[in-house]
Amino acid sequence: MKYPYTQQFRQNLVEWFHREQRNLPWRHTKDPYKIWVSEVMLQQTRVDTVIPYYQRFIDKYPTLESLAGADEEELLKMWEGLGYYSRARNLQAGVREVVEKYGGTVPNNRHDLQKLKGVGPYTAGAILSIAYNLPEHAVDGNVMRVLSRVLHITEDISLPRTRKIFEKAVDELIHPDYPGDFNQALMDLGAMICTPVSPKCLLCPVREYCLGFMEGDADQLPIKTKKTKSKNEYYDVYIAVNDGKILFERRPSEGLLANMWQFPMMPKKQPSENTWEPFELKYNVTITKVLEENFVEQKHVFSHLTWNMSCHLIEISENGPFPDSVQFVTLKEMEALPLPVPMAKIMNILNRYIFHSPE
Ligand code: SF4
Repeated sequence: MKYPYTQQFRQNLVEWFHREQRNLPWRHTKDPYKIWVSEVMLQQTRVDTVIPYYQRFIDKYPTLESLAGADEEELLKMWEGLGYYSRARNLQAGVREVVEKYGGTVPNNRHDLQKLKGVGPYTAGAILSIAYNLPEHAVDGNVMRVLSRVLHITEDISLPRTRKIFEKAVDELIHPDYPGDFNQALMDLGAMICTPVSPKCLLCPVREYCLGFMEGDADQLPIKTKKTKSKNEYYDVYIAVNDGKILFERRPSEGLLANMWQFPMMPKKQPSENTWEPFELKYNVTITKVLEENFVEQKHVFSHLTWNMSCHLIEISENGPFPDSVQFVTLKEMEALPLPVPMAKIMNILNRYIFHSPE
């Protein structure tokens, strides 16, 4: 069925956006670089969390060139706490490509933009519509939810091919004079009114043109098959002290939390498995004293897996040689290194209850 309310829908939506839009720092600029940074930060992360990170990041790296030339460790430190660190690395790689290949001007077409590292169809569409005012779709899960209700689309949104249906829908619906505002209005509508649970239809500016509302099943949409269960992984985490310094390790340069720093972690097949000896062998150390066995059980949930960590505070004697990725660092030195969230949480507990550092 052809949607009969295209004109009214786009008009009402954009007018509502002009009245009610959220005041967000990246909305005060049309600089494609800054829009790009904001969109990358917003992937998988809540707006409230992103705002202070965005401001600090733009203060530190106000231009493409400044980010292109940034030291990776410093960049990861700026990103610390936001998670999904490959986003930061990809952003920097993409920015470097723009500097080298396009003379520092972010491309204004989808073809070139999507070739940049870390730039997918959504980010490309957001940059093109918001910064360059081009009628390009920017479809993410939020937009799919809203449009599945407005257009009564019942395809399963967890299937990759379904995104195309929504991209085509936006191509037809998008406001030709305000494409960036139209895309941002869909995002705001999804965040403020057409929420995942209990959409606030009575407050909705497009209620009269919402097929889901007319059918009475808007809250059953979108159709989404259940995600596979996240995998549980178990680790012993060793806070291993020697002469006032702590054994610290850099993660591999590929994969989850690449190049971030952590306390040594030993994987366990079962929660009850003991890894003390394998730990000594792997790191070439001897445990001389167990200060606190299992001082905290820490859980960290990633999108696809959960780390269950049993943390132990021990003293070691250093035998060496140590793997290249390993160093002994002071607490102060540790603070300057990029730590992933699960390690920062352990660090906080150590500071508060064990090392008794001032807050
Ligand atoms: Fe969403 Fe309800 Fe508005 Fe439809 S009427 S777009 S379901 S909030």
